[in-house]
Amino acid sequence: MGRISSETRQAILEKTDFLAVYQEHVRLVRKGSSYWGLCPFHTEKTPSFSVNAETGLFYCFGCHKGGSIVQFLMEMEKLTYHETMIELARRAGVPLSFDDRKPEEIQNEEKDRRDLLDLHERLATTFNWFLTNTPHGRNALDVLHRRGIDDTLIEKFRLGYAPADRGWLHAFLRSKGYSDEFLAKSGLFSGNNPTWPLFADRIMFPIMDAKGRVVAFGGRCMSDDGPKYLNSPDTLLYRKQETLFALPQALESIANQDAALVCEGYMDALSFHQAGITHAVAPLGTAFTARQALMLRRRAARVLLCFDGDEAGVRAAERACVVATAAGLEVSVLMLEGGKDASEILEKQGPGVLTQILKNTINAGTFLLTRARKLFDVSTMEGKAKAISFLFPYLDALDSDVKRQDFFRDISMATGVSAHAIASDFAKAKLAGGLGDQVRRTASEQIAQTPGQGQSRVRTADLLFMTAVALQPEFFNTVRAHVGKYDLDDPRARDLFEALEEAEVEGVHDLAGILTHCTDSSTVESVAAIAASGELAGERDRLILDGTWRIRKRTLQRRKQALIDSLATAGGEADPAKIQETMETIMRIDAELKHSGGSLDE
Ligand code: ZN
Repeated sequence: MGRISSETRQAILEKTDFLAVYQEHVRLVRKGSSYWGLCPFHTEKTPSFSVNAETGLFYCFGCHKGGSIVQFLMEMEKLTYHETMIELARRAGVPLSFDDRKPEEIQNEEKDRRDLLDLHERLATTFNWFLTNTPHGRNALDVLHRRGIDDTLIEKFRLGYAPADRGWLHAFLRSKGYSDEFLAKSGLFSGNNPTWPLFADRIMFPIMDAKGRVVAFGGRCMSDDGPKYLNSPDTLLYRKQETLFALPQALESIANQDAALVCEGYMDALSFHQAGITHAVAPLGTAFTARQALMLRRRAARVLLCFDGDEAGVRAAERACVVATAAGLEVSVLMLEGGKDASEILEKQGPGVLTQILKNTINAGTFLLTRARKLFDVSTMEGKAKAISFLFPYLDALDSDVKRQDFFRDISMATGVSAHAIASDFAKAKLAGGLGDQVRRTASEQIAQTPGQGQSRVRTADLLFMTAVALQPEFFNTVRAHVGKYDLDDPRARDLFEALEEAEVEGVHDLAGILTHCTDSSTVESVAAIAASGELAGERDRLILDGTWRIRKRTLQRRKQALIDSLATAGGEADPAKIQETMETIMRIDAELKHSGGSLDE
């Protein structure tokens, strides 16, 4: 037996006489657009349990339980979701149909996933053998040794070498029985030429998931042929935005220190591990993402960002400060001066110096404040204003007013503008259209390197609404009965809606799991920021119930307007029967609008 299909679910909710079901448990009296009664979930003398006549959602102002008739029955009769739907279907006389979406497809994908893991495991071993046991890998091994990487670390990270012969990989894998069709999904060959390997004459860095399974490769060029570093593209196994190099090797240390060190690349991460700084991880050829920040937040409270001192490194650090802070991490920064990276320091000055340098960290606020003073001339009014708004995204990412107050004071010290004025500008910017143009502009400039994320810090009502749902996914079915994906205006809210649908199929109900289904990283980033800010704490139920009605109403009004427009443009040639039908539809919408106009406050 699969899941109950969504059509059946819709039909059940539409046909259920919900008032009759509620009234089997609660005596209800109508007042305005709602029914009121004594709450069955807590003891009370005056009614605070309400049922909205139009939508059928219940909500108790005393104990804050709420939802649809489904949640009500589940709670009242201690049924599972599935049992509740079967019971409601029986009452409403709706035949049950189950959703068994393409089981072979799901099975095939699972098989591909297992085979890909197997392939990567086998290749990691083979590449490692080339590096450590054959003359082919001699030069690569020398490079690693010269960089201060010893054999113990090479084994721990399973480093390897891909032979220079570009015919080898394809022939080798075909000889092991892999089909061309399968190899095309492996991410190991060119998209244009399925026999042409991405990696040849390269030092190979196996990229592993948190469980230590090889899911992709990075390769560092040994000759001048092609880019210095190259990574596998995203595959069934691997998404670069949610993978961190060295994570499985760093897990224990991250847990022990309650902190992670994020550096720029493979060689930096390896150098830190070589120096005994084993909580180091690195993103994979991209900026540090919100997903990666969340992965670390689940394992530690603090993060140390260690970036090169060049312009690109500083900008990456600015952005990473905001992303990590928004994920709820306590952030400090270490900029390596003199154009050096960790790998060079290890090579030229040894592990002792690398360990020593780690003591020179500053917190994210101080780092950003120093940057602001460097970027803008704070002796002028205009420079002060720019410096202050440069800091708004970080202020917004902070999860408490106490921290913000502290930072207002720091900014005040640095710019000579009163903390009060800064706070009031920040509040104004935040109010104006979610975060305000000023903030939006600053944020998008700051993260301009990552296209499509410019909007990521602007909060729309639809996004707040869907975030509240993601935080309380048990409401999702209720919401979905009244609101469709295309009723949402913010693309991130639609992304989240889809993610919730997929998560439900998988039976995933925690926020982190839901977010892995989002396709746009700016969605995850925004949700992380909102969730971490704590601003939805305590008012989610209200936001969800009110939001459901608000969006439903908006959709009805739009549908009505579209129908009125169609009448207006139809002119004299229109079919009278069609006009009659349109008029009736408009009247039905009007009736629903009239009833759903009331909120719970009435
Ligand atoms: Zn109650």
